[in-house]
Amino acid sequence: MVAHIIDGRELAAELKRHLGAQVQRLSEQGTRPGLATVIAGDDYPSVAYERRVRRLAEELGCHYVCAALSSDVSEADVIAEVGKLDADPRVHGILVLRPLPADVAEAAVYRALDPLKDIEAVHPVNAGLLALGRPRYVPSTPASVFHMLDRYLSSTSDDPAAVYARSNLVVVGRSSNVGKPAMLLAQARNATVVSCDVHSSRAGLLVGHTRAADILVVAAGVPELIGAEHVKEGAVVIDVGINPVSQEGTGKVRLVGDVDFNAVAEKAAAISPVPGGVGPITDVWLLRNTVWAARLAASVQAAQPSWEGLSVPGDLGAAGLVAAPASSSA
Ligand code: NAD
Repeated sequence: MVAHIIDGRELAAELKRHLGAQVQRLSEQGTRPGLATVIAGDDYPSVAYERRVRRLAEELGCHYVCAALSSDVSEADVIAEVGKLDADPRVHGILVLRPLPADVAEAAVYRALDPLKDIEAVHPVNAGLLALGRPRYVPSTPASVFHMLDRYLSSTSDDPAAVYARSNLVVVGRSSNVGKPAMLLAQARNATVVSCDVHSSRAGLLVGHTRAADILVVAAGVPELIGAEHVKEGAVVIDVGINPVSQEGTGKVRLVGDVDFNAVAEKAAAISPVPGGVGPITDVWLLRNTVWAARLAASVQAAQPSWEGLSVPGDLGAAGLVAAPASSSA
């Protein structure tokens, strides 16, 4: 079997076209969507990500601002920057880039975010809503994974809802920003979900679980962790990993996924590449969440003179962002 390659760039371009029209419409109605990023230090993948979303925001006509902080910034200063962005009416969505400096507690920074601007659902309120199956925002990377899967399954002759319902779906990696929300989105589609992490590998359990997967999502941050021996014939494999690896001899850096693409492509029914897979969709999805946040802000402002104590209007619950099959329930 030679796998179908799920082209993330093509899906991202399609999303971007839709989003451009939405930004224009909202701007004409007086709400120009605004994104802010907070970055501390010069971590290579974070700097590259910030540059990509800045370019995309500007291309789409969104307001964009970046709080670039030093690698030795204090927790209080990061929280103060977040507070300024919370208070800035031009900013609708805030992304705090990881890693933060070792002395800065991620949880404390996330708690400082205005939940209505927390487009990656890292504030406990938004993480809780997601876990309860009533998301306000769906974090961009897992949302992109399931956008790919939904679209790929829709392109086959099978009913996607039925495929999910009869699938063993294994997620490797259980970080709060990727692996855990990916599990929740898989459950919302009625898949049978197994979560593996580094402890599964250490216990020698990883290969047994991944080989049973009809759908395998890998977000471990370990270059080419998953080889052909980990994959069942005919599985659908989504590789979230983006790992900069120096090439021997030249020292040039290239990006490698968590899956050995060439080996696995010979066994899988479909596979996403790295680069050109989940990454480009994630970039656009972040802006999509920003547009959603701008719509929420506009509707809240129209309804009440103040943000204080307001809940999100029911008809703007984020259900529309979850491309779950109609029969799913979380
Ligand atoms: P993380 O370090 O926060 O979490 C990694 C997870 O993988 C942990 O749960 C850990 O236990 C698990 N893990 C580590 N080694 C393992 C092993 N040998 N076997 C099984 N599980 C193992 O990382 P993250 O933020 O979730 O990111 C994971 C990868 O995804 C990274 O390569 C990152 O660059 C990439 N990423 C890509 C995108 C994108 O848009 N494509 C977005 C975010 C992260």
